[in-house]
Amino acid sequence: MNHTHEETKASNKSQTTPFRHSNKFIPYIPLTIISRSAPRGTNLKLIRPLNFYQISNSNSPNFADRNLDSQNKTSHFRLPPIESSIVTSIKRSNYLTKPTSTLIIEAAMFIKYMPKVAYKVEELLHLIKPPGYENKKTLILDLDETLVHAEDNPINCHVCLKIPIKGQIGLNLRPYCFDLLKFASKEFEVIIFTASQKSYADAIIDHLDPLHLFVHHRLYREHCTANHEHYIKNIERIADRNIKDIIIVDNSIISFLFHLDNGVPISTWYSNINDFQLKLLIDYLKLMIPVNDIREVNRPSFQLQKLIVSAKITND
Ligand SMILES: [Mg+2]
Repeated sequence: MNHTHEETKASNKSQTTPFRHSNKFIPYIPLTIISRSAPRGTNLKLIRPLNFYQISNSNSPNFADRNLDSQNKTSHFRLPPIESSIVTSIKRSNYLTKPTSTLIIEAAMFIKYMPKVAYKVEELLHLIKPPGYENKKTLILDLDETLVHAEDNPINCHVCLKIPIKGQIGLNLRPYCFDLLKFASKEFEVIIFTASQKSYADAIIDHLDPLHLFVHHRLYREHCTANHEHYIKNIERIADRNIKDIIIVDNSIISFLFHLDNGVPISTWYSNINDFQLKLLIDYLKLMIPVNDIREVNRPSFQLQKLIVSAKITND
């Protein structure tokens, strides 16, 4: 569904327990503001955190490069342009879906001002690989704004769907959505992993795949790692899969923040019928089929770590 600008104040009291992900510790930076769709060059009013921890996770960029005056709690930060060389490196390939500056800034903001959450152990998710797919890699697809876009009002939407409790919604289907599902289901184990509620997501997935031919497993909000208003998809929770064989496609980089090397960012889609990102995605996924470790292909393709670091938020 649509995301809007959000401003959330941190509770700076007693939540100092670092978040533990696998064996890596990501200390918490109190939440200041998370702008999910901040345009470039926009001035954002931020609430300065009282505490500022250095991110020590070796897989995460080091963002603790600023001195913050804990006495001044408000300030203005300007978001500079994304490092042009990185954008160029992405544009040079016709295969790739392009992470927009909005997606990068969103992730950078999130990491830089990561909200505190309580540590909790997450259970493994035991999903049985379908017969014949034992040696195939796993493709995880986001739903909203990646494959489809839903609206409360069905007028002008491609499809009208009935959702339990909620009633009717309108659904737009991203161009090449069915082509992607059809292709992917032959070459990959396909999991749709959405941060949406089960009843809503099931109605949409049932429409996309009424005979249950294309989507092998479904994961919902309850399977995400909740981090305040954000939901992170921790793919390490999926048991009996090797992390080198998992690809996750999402229009929010935050969703796969724990596994940037596995993530394929894709632009957020609402209704543009001329969009062809899913067609490009099919071509890109073909590159993944024969490789031993998808991260070796994906990391240099998107350079997300570098992109996020480059999206520095400067203090005016
Ligand atoms: Mg999405």
